[in-house]
Formats: sequence, C-alpha cells, structure tokens
Amino acid sequence: MSSFNLWYHPLYTDGIHDEARFPKYRYQKLLQRLEQSDQFNQITIRTPEPISRNSLLLAHDAIYVDAFLEEKLDEKEMRRIGLTPWTPKMIERTLCLTGGAVEATIHAVKHGGITGNMAGGTHHAHRDFGSGYCVFNDLAISAMFAIEHLGVERVAILDLDVHQGDGTATILTTEERTRTISVHCSTNFPFRKSVSDFDLPIEPNSGDATYMEKVQEAVNLCLDFEPDLILYQAGVDGLEHDHLGKLNVTREGMRARNQYVFEEMLNHRIPTVIFMGGGYSKPIGHTIDSFFDLFIDAAKWNGRW
Ligand SMILES: [Zn+2]
Repeated sequence: MSSFNLWYHPLYTDGIHDEARFPKYRYQKLLQRLEQSDQFNQITIRTPEPISRNSLLLAHDAIYVDAFLEEKLDEKEMRRIGLTPWTPKMIERTLCLTGGAVEATIHAVKHGGITGNMAGGTHHAHRDFGSGYCVFNDLAISAMFAIEHLGVERVAILDLDVHQGDGTATILTTEERTRTISVHCSTNFPFRKSVSDFDLPIEPNSGDATYMEKVQEAVNLCLDFEPDLILYQAGVDGLEHDHLGKLNVTREGMRARNQYVFEEMLNHRIPTVIFMGGGYSKPIGHTIDSFFDLFIDAAKWNGRW
C-alpha cells in the first residue's frame, strides 16, 4: 500500500497575513490534526521548491508575472487580489504554493493514485491579472505542465469550490486538451461569471441532495472526456457554516462528495491531484474538520489504488 503524498511548506502558514480570511490556525491546526490521526502513517508530507518563471508562463502573461515577481503591481492590481497586508514573503509563498501543485501533479502522473497540496486551488487568477486571493492559477499551470512536459494528453479540471473557477475557464478556453467543469453557487463571487467548458450552477441554500446530484453530473462529464489526469479543486466553502459560501452543505455531505470523487477516480484508475481551495467558516474549526476529512479520505482511497 503506497503512501498519500501531501505537499506543505511552512510559508503556507507564515507567508500570509490576512488573518480575517486565512487565519494561521487554519493551516497549523489542520497539519496537527493530520499528524495526530491514526491514518498519519499512510501520509507523507513533502516540501515543495519554488516554481520556475518558465512554468508560470505556461498559463500567464510575462508582463504580469514579472510585475508580481519584481513587486511592481499597482495598488489596484494588489487590491483585486486581496491578501492584505501585502508583504515580500507573499512572493515566496506564492512560488512555493504553485511549486507544490506542480510537484503533486508530477507525482500523480508518474506513480498514479491521489496526491495533494495543502494550499492553493487558486482558480480566480487569470492570464494577466490576479483576483479573489489568487495570484497565479495553479490548476491551469499544472494542467499545461502535465501536457507540455509529462506526456499527458487530456486533463479534466473538476472544480467543486462554491465559487466559479473563472480564471481557469478563461486561461484554458481555447485549449482542447483540457476540460474545465465548475460546480458553484449561482449568486456567489465572481459576480460576472466566465464560461467554463461546463458550468453547473446551484441556487443558494440547496443543501446536500442537490449538491450531490450536481457533483455526480460533474464527475460524469470528467469521465466522458477520458482524461489521463484529474485536477480536483476541493474547496469546502459550500459548508453550511461558511461565511462566504451560501450552499448549506453539511460536513457529512461534503465528505460524501469527496468519497464519491475518489471512488470514481479509483474505479477508472485516473490519477487525481487535490488542490485545497476555499474554506471560510466562522468559527474556522468547521472548515478544518472538512479539510481533515478530505485528506484522511484521500489517504484511504490512495491506499486502495
Ligand atoms: Zn471559494
């Protein structure tokens, strides 16, 4: 039985100072919970290297990439990203976080099974600007990295975060080797939606049953594409306690969602990479519970691979 490889860097915690949206507690507590669980012997924590500029250019405009790296984004561009107050550590964090996504992708393609990154899922980043706490789009970059460098022919991006994967949709809009699928709340950010290959909006307060129906529809759309790789944006901001989501999904409903995805990908032997995505419950403990469930179940299903 192989171990579930999960990428994490101390900068995921220390490189961010937006305590309102990303309390440090969220990452520290989650890692602690995993370390203390009985399943931790099935999990290997790996430390990412910062991503290269060339890899960023697989999905981003050079002018935007360099402006970020050289700290030359203007006020308006930084405000659109959020994550305030802005500090130089943010650059290092962003590069490590995106590096973690690509390393998890490489591992999944080479060895099969499920891998994950304990941050990211930065689906609101567009080709030449960042938005909604997202600087670079780790999903689009990882998809293009797999296609350009790993011999992968088709990548499906399954985005189940409560917010639409608008940046991923626009970056990959003309890319036929990828399929973007987004299940999200119809009235949530981003208010001007992009067009994914498949959008499955849900009305606010829909609850577990409706959510699960859409998840099943989305998974079928992934499978119809016959992908060699699935990038799974597994945000838990559809939870009933979430401050930014509006979907009213229970912890059990969220867990059933993940288990359904893992079971289908296991049955079809499609390597799957988990991108953590959003979670803003008040109190944050509910978000941590659901991310804990996500990674523990990933370890279990990976063990059955
Ligand atoms: Zn979200």
